[in-house]
Amino acid sequence: MAQVILKNISKVYGGKVQAVKDCNIEIKDKEFVVLVGPSGCGKSTTLRMIAGLEDITEGELLIDGEVVNNVPPKDRDIAMVFQNYALYPHMSVYENMAFGLKIRKFSKKEIDERVNEAARILGIEDLLKRKPRALSGGQRQRVAVGRAIVRQPKVFLFDEPLSNLDAKLRVQMRAEISSLHEKLQATMIYVTHDQVEALTMADRIVVMKDGEVQQSGSPMELYNNPANMFVAGFIGTPPMNFMEVTVESENGSFYLNEGSFRLKANMLHDSILRPYTGKKIVMGLRPEDFTFCMKSETDRTINGTVSVVEPLGSETNVFVSTPSNVITGRISPTAVVQKGSSISLLPTMAKAKFFDLETTKAIV
Ligand code: ADP
Repeated sequence: MAQVILKNISKVYGGKVQAVKDCNIEIKDKEFVVLVGPSGCGKSTTLRMIAGLEDITEGELLIDGEVVNNVPPKDRDIAMVFQNYALYPHMSVYENMAFGLKIRKFSKKEIDERVNEAARILGIEDLLKRKPRALSGGQRQRVAVGRAIVRQPKVFLFDEPLSNLDAKLRVQMRAEISSLHEKLQATMIYVTHDQVEALTMADRIVVMKDGEVQQSGSPMELYNNPANMFVAGFIGTPPMNFMEVTVESENGSFYLNEGSFRLKANMLHDSILRPYTGKKIVMGLRPEDFTFCMKSETDRTINGTVSVVEPLGSETNVFVSTPSNVITGRISPTAVVQKGSSISLLPTMAKAKFFDLETTKAIV
């Protein structure tokens, strides 16, 4: 069992910089939780408080029901993998992996068994005699993970472990860490600024901004039901399109008037739009929520001019300039769209999200 609970945790550096504010996160046993957010949002600080590398200014940290605020890192039964790998350059791969066990006075036999087993799991048996400088970035990363595995900790912490790898290797290591989680059935807390890593690896994602948790949920929950505009814009690439619209009511139907276009709302949304009649709100539509067509239709399409066409192989992103906005749409790579041509975007209005203009919270 390894459950981690953060109860109203705050961190203030030097009495001035509030890095984490009243953070509440419950991480279940065997869960893979990803803390994600832009640089400086307090992810690493949160992780380092869990590891015991930073003091907790306020709140309680519980591991398996026990408050550990004052338990030193070495007694928390946690292993951390750092972005820069933090390997000892003068030690071989074997020695690097064995080091933590040696200082904990494990027997030679036990160390040998654990290191060999971890090396087997990670596919680095052939590298055990090498020094870190003779390894590629991906291999070093595996050794750093191996050093955590041999400890058989209650909880694994990962601090941006893939940021120093090239794009292709990152994709591969992402899958490797996910399958490692399956194999080890351990609780893992993973920090990244990369929302793709979060979406692809997490059982649950915790989105942070300015030291505060914005939302926590499964990748699809966050994608489909973002709690606010920040989460809506942060999760998903290209990001969700936001448009400021006035809610209008006419003959029992609702319309969203942007100025340069007006769209009839889906009946599904009548009850949430009603209280906003006559008011401005923000409408959000994801790039895949549009169909491209040649013909404009009253109350159904947004008309614009294609400003950029970005083919990605499996799909094509198209940027459409309207009088007040640039809207990103996504189309099949076989569709032909010319830069500079006039185009109509037909949104799937059932998929539209709505946000309060002032609070930026989702209207639900
Ligand atoms: P992230 O991991 O999301 O990039 P951090 O947790 O590293 O963010 O930092 C959160 C905030 O705390 C930032 O404003 C950062 O400048 C500040 N900070 C981090 N470490 C220290 C420190 N040792 N002293 C003072 N401020 C710090």
